[in-house]
Order: sequence, then structure tokens, then C-alpha cells
Amino acid sequence: MRKFICIQCPLGCEITVEGEKIEGNRCVRGKEYVMQEMKNPKRVLTTTVFIENAIHPMLPVRSNGEVPKELLKECMKILAGVKVKAPVKKGDVIYKNILNTGVDIIASRSMERK
Ligand code: SF4
Repeated sequence: MRKFICIQCPLGCEITVEGEKIEGNRCVRGKEYVMQEMKNPKRVLTTTVFIENAIHPMLPVRSNGEVPKELLKECMKILAGVKVKAPVKKGDVIYKNILNTGVDIIASRSMERK
């Protein structure tokens, strides 16, 4: 038996999977989430990158879609070497098509020049 906590909404249903039987989900999204997790787990990536000449040293960024879980570490390594220059607007693309996933890394907030 495998257990999952559904992260699709704040209720956080505990879902168990045994063979074909999926139990504990209060809605269909929980079933879809578990099936996705078993097949190809994905996550939205959130982190920070260096920013020059800005009011803060780091800029919060996130992926504009979900990235396969096994690629998250590799993505973080790439982003650790990225440095952008202020000003940046919320939603600006910071890194395009990371690891050919079709997902872009975008700024989570605007940041002015210092
Ligand atoms: S199964 Fe449905 S109700 Fe339960 S946490 Fe997931 S999305 Fe929310």
C-alpha cells in the first residue's frame, strides 16, 4: 500500500493506493494527483536568483508550469549560476525553457534599481 497527501487544496486528504483501489480522496482532483504522482511526479519550482543593482540581493522566481520532480535539483543548480540586472518586472522571463521542459522561470515580483 502507498500513501499520499494530496496537495491540490488545503484539505490535504490522505489518500491510499492498493492495487487498483484509490481511497481517501474527497474529490476527483485527488485521484488525478495520485495517478500523476505514481506515473511522473511534477512540481512548481520556486527559488531565488542573484540580482545586481537592486534593492535586495536576491530575486524570488518560480516556474510558470510544473517541472518533473527528478529534474528539480538540476534546475536549481542552473539557477544558482544565474544573475540578472535590476529593474525586473513581475512575470519577466528569467530563464527560458529550462532543461528543455517547455517551462520558463519567471520573476515572482518586480524589483527596482537601487
Ligand atoms: S482530494 Fe480533493 S478535497 Fe482532498 S485535498 Fe485533494 S483536492 Fe482537496
